[in-house]
Formats: sequence, structure tokens, C-alpha cells
Amino acid sequence: MTGVDSLLAEGLVAPDEADGLRQVAERYAVALSPTVLALAKAKPDGPVALQFVPDVRELGTTPEERVDPIGDKVHAPVKGIVHRYPDRVLLKPLHACSVYCRFCFRREQTGPGGEALTDAELETALDYVRDRPAIWEVILTGGDPMILSARRLKRIVRALDGIPHVGVIRLHTRVPVVSPELVTPGRLAALKATDSAVYIAIHCNHADELTHEARRAVAALADAGIPLLGQSVLLRGVNDSVEALDTLFRAMVRLRIKPYYLHHPDLAPGTAHFRTSLGEGRALVGALRGRLSGIAQPMYVLDIPGGHGKVPAGPCYLQEFDDGTWSVTDPRGNSHAYPPKSP
Ligand SMILES: *Cc1c(COP(=O)(O)O)cnc(C)c1O
Ligand code: SF4
Repeated sequence: MTGVDSLLAEGLVAPDEADGLRQVAERYAVALSPTVLALAKAKPDGPVALQFVPDVRELGTTPEERVDPIGDKVHAPVKGIVHRYPDRVLLKPLHACSVYCRFCFRREQTGPGGEALTDAELETALDYVRDRPAIWEVILTGGDPMILSARRLKRIVRALDGIPHVGVIRLHTRVPVVSPELVTPGRLAALKATDSAVYIAIHCNHADELTHEARRAVAALADAGIPLLGQSVLLRGVNDSVEALDTLFRAMVRLRIKPYYLHHPDLAPGTAHFRTSLGEGRALVGALRGRLSGIAQPMYVLDIPGGHGKVPAGPCYLQEFDDGTWSVTDPRGNSHAYPPKSP
């Protein structure tokens, strides 16, 4: 479902907001899948509605926000490739998704009209990988690569699997959660590789997103032998509480998804209302340490604006003194001394 008029018809936005929201929709794509539409209608101010129903605050921008927040363009040698780290590249076959998250870090590119690679452009992007033996991992992203047809997905996975130096093919997707019906036997078969390991990073920000159908789709991926990682964004009003994060990460682990990254939101235009301060984020992840199983702890990461890479942004537990002794803070906040290495 797309368009402000359908949101009005569904009662998800008020008539007096419609004009402002039409301006939002002209700038940034709007779409809700049947799954998120049902969740949003069930809780109109809830964590799912907030992520997908447009808001007039998106029309404002703050001075620190940027059109290309993590510097994709600085590191794009050929169309569809982002090459920032020596051993891995992003391959973006399309810029469309089945839903459009209001906080999307690539919102200036994503949309139904978002450029998809033509066959020739895809070949050029694959040649870029073929010609560079240092590339060990290819990360399929976009847009959402899981909305590709099974045929196209298979073609890409096959091609990458056939490159001897590619060890890992990783897909980043929101589909299993927001559009579980797209996890079809055909797409599952398309994800089979023989030489490379295929990993899937599933984007999910709140346990409410994990409907019965989403759980079944996730289980189908895990049963197909695909290791699953969880990718979440810390979002003000959606999951910025210890309870919400605790419940989310436990739910992921229960579904065989290893929480991988909790992203501090990028400085994408019109998304200030979603951002907490870094200090608030650090306090939240600090509170999870000691409370949650180690396998349920993601790394809190910040993608440095401008394309300088991701770094851990969580609290620091160690401090070194001039004499080589360390002070170590435990999960309850108490300090302990750790001795220097004996000579
Ligand atoms: C996030 C990102 C990656 C993947 O980073 P990991 O830390 O391996 O998950 C790779 N390339 C680019 C350009 C990225 O933005
Ligand atoms: S699924 Fe990912 S790429 Fe698509 S709108 Fe959401 S955050 Fe952006």
C-alpha cells in the first residue's frame, strides 16, 4: 500500500495532516506491506506505525544532516558497488523495498522508482568483483535484495558463488519480517551456494514486528542452514528503552538470529525526531550488559559521517593509568584494578 490517500482511508493519518504528508511523500517514498499495515492499524501510535507512517517532521532538516550520510558516493567505483573496506564490497542490485522506513539512511536513493541495475550494469559490477582478488565478501543490499525475483536472485548468487576468491555472500534484508510471504521456496533455493557461505542479516527494530508469519519465514531461512544475523537501529520512541531492547534481542536469539549490530541512526535528512544522543545510546547498551546473555548482545555501532567506516560506540570498560595498571568497570558500575604485565 502506498500513498497518503490510502493512509487516510485506513485511518492512519488525520485529514488535517494530509497536505503536509503529501509533500513528505513527494520527497521520500511511502509504502507499507500488508503485514506492517495490520500492525500499524492495531497500534496507531505504536513502534511499528512510527517506523512506517510518514510524519510532517520529515520535511525539516537539521544542519548536521546530509544527503549522503555515510559517504556511499565517495566509495562508488562503478554503479551498484560501494567499496570502502579492502576485503568487502556492497552490491546494490536495486533501490526498491517492500516498505519504506521513515528513518532510512539511504532515503535519498530508495523508492519504487529507485534505479535498479540493468543486466549490463550488473555484469560490470560483477566484473569489478571478479577482477579484485582482495574482495572476500560481497554484501547484497539496496534497497532490499530479497524483493528481487527468485530468478534474478539466483543469477546473482550463482555468479558470486562462481568467483573463487569470494568466500562470503551476505544479504541485508527486511523482507522476512515485513513481507514474510516473499520468503518463497523459489527464493530459498536461489540462496543456495556451493562454494561460498551465505549469511543473512535481518533488519528488525521491535519485537512487535515478529508476527507469527515473520517467525515462520525466519525459521524457514534457519532451517535452510543459513546463519542469521540481526541488524537493528536505535530509534527514539520505538525501541529506546532497556525493556524494548531486551525483549527484541531475546526474541531474535529465540528465532536463531544472532544480534549483530545496533546502529546509532545515521544523519539522514528529516530524521532528527528518531535520534537519541550518543550518550543515551551508550547508557542503554551499558544497562544491557550483565542483564542479557552474551549471545543476545549486539555491538552498538556508529557509521562515521562522510564514509570513514563503522566503529563500536558502546561504553568503555577499561582505563589505563601511567604506571600500566588498568581500572576495569564491571556491569554494575564498580571499578576494579587489573595489574600491568610483569616484566
Ligand atoms: C556497513 C558496511 C559494510 C559492512 O560492514 P561490516 O562491519 O562488515 O558489517 C561494508 N561496506 C560498507 C560500505 C558499509 O557501509
Ligand atoms: S528496508 Fe532498509 S533500505 Fe529499505 S527503506 Fe528500510 S532502511 Fe531503507
